[in-house]
Amino acid sequence: MNIEISERARNLHASAIVFDGHCDTLLDILAGERPWDRCEGKGQVDLPRLQEGGITAQIFAAYVRPELRHKAAWETLRLIETMYEIVEGWPAQVMLATRAKHVRQAKREGKIAGILGLEGADGLQGDLTVLRAFYRLGVRNIGLTWNHRNEAADGVGEERTGGGLTEFGVRLVQEMRKLGIMVDIAHLAPAGVAHVFEVYEGPVVCSHGNARAVCNHRRNLTDAQLEQIAASGGVVGVTFVPAFIAENPDEATLDRLIDHIDHIVHVAGIDHVGLGSDWDGFFQPTAEFPQHVGHTPMITEALLRRGYSEEAVRKILGENWLRVFEQVAG
Ligand SMILES: [Zn+2]
Repeated sequence: MNIEISERARNLHASAIVFDGHCDTLLDILAGERPWDRCEGKGQVDLPRLQEGGITAQIFAAYVRPELRHKAAWETLRLIETMYEIVEGWPAQVMLATRAKHVRQAKREGKIAGILGLEGADGLQGDLTVLRAFYRLGVRNIGLTWNHRNEAADGVGEERTGGGLTEFGVRLVQEMRKLGIMVDIAHLAPAGVAHVFEVYEGPVVCSHGNARAVCNHRRNLTDAQLEQIAASGGVVGVTFVPAFIAENPDEATLDRLIDHIDHIVHVAGIDHVGLGSDWDGFFQPTAEFPQHVGHTPMITEALLRRGYSEEAVRKILGENWLRVFEQVAG
């Protein structure tokens, strides 16, 4: 992918807080499929490319494969430990962020701020004591479900059941609000999304999802949902998964991704859109698209070309995410 990056875009990107809401990298590192500190193999995120991409903060999701559900807390602990090994192994380059001030500190010190998240509440195994333990370990974002049903709610794969949050799911989001963990509706079935807005008072995020009006995929948000996220003060991280960008993945270009941002800005406003790549959670996009996290400055260039002001670009790159993170986690 060769889009030339102007000096203006380069400077803007280098000075901005760049905050990405979702990647699945921990799983690859835990599995020993590739190193963290070298750019090798099939991955899309590693230390050299996070630095090349000018990333300030990255939410690293702990995703538990369905076949490990019976011991999901154990697998989640292994993924959290992987994050700690990264942070402790590269202390000059990476730090764990549990509050907004850590993200700002990382920016000042030229480090990557790693934020722990869960992709699906499966790792709690229905226990709020486990939630509180994960909070102590640094978890600050929880996507309530992946595509399947769990103790908290039904995922989008269960859409036909019409199921919202379970009783545990309701208590979970209330406890998350008290502790300071972001409630993430990515992958949640529509009834669950509606239910979150009924019972949760606080900014709601969608860590990785796009606009349904631009690409009709069940993982993308309707205009009504975008309006609700905006009304809550939350943020939507636009995702780079080709099937969520365009119905024909061959048309999943950078330009089309910017169409999603345009649409979300139009419906929800400039304060409610950010980045949520899902790097390492999908296969390589088309040639007309950034190929890995190192290519993130292309998004800044594309936003400027689309006519966004520098102030608007800063919000999209990270200030919106940071605002929500600060409001929830402190
Ligand atoms: Zn996902």
